[in-house]
Amino acid sequence: MAKNLDELRAAVRARGLRATPSRLAVLELVRAHDAPMSHGDVADRLASQAWDRATIYRNLTDLAEAGLLRRTDVGDHVWRFEAVSDDHDTAHPHFVCTECGTIECLPELELAMRRSKAPRALRQRQVEVHVRGLCDACI
Ligand SMILES: [Zn+2]
Ligand SMILES: [Zn+2]
Repeated sequence: MAKNLDELRAAVRARGLRATPSRLAVLELVRAHDAPMSHGDVADRLASQAWDRATIYRNLTDLAEAGLLRRTDVGDHVWRFEAVSDDHDTAHPHFVCTECGTIECLPELELAMRRSKAPRALRQRQVEVHVRGLCDACI
């Protein structure tokens, strides 16, 4: 635990942010979660702490701007945040259950496209891929 905290502190400082307790707790929580989390998810999980929701929101956006978290919108106009790690720093698609709303990270997949036909954003990988269907629990 102490080692983990040192590691979190070092990661945050390496990006030029102050390692405040709330920022470290937010990063630790999002890193431990294997699917993207909304501001509400994070605030609910940290509700026992003294930080208000605005502080937690600011921490999420600061960490995203610093490149430690990635923001994703799976189509419901809610920003969700997930950790960016060294071995997994490229964007990957997400599976969204149309019944219960569960979101799962999917392995990276190659989009085959003819360069001349693809919009510039796609060629530059400035897009998000979402796959919709029923999750294992709902099927
Ligand atoms: Zn489902
Ligand atoms: Zn993901």
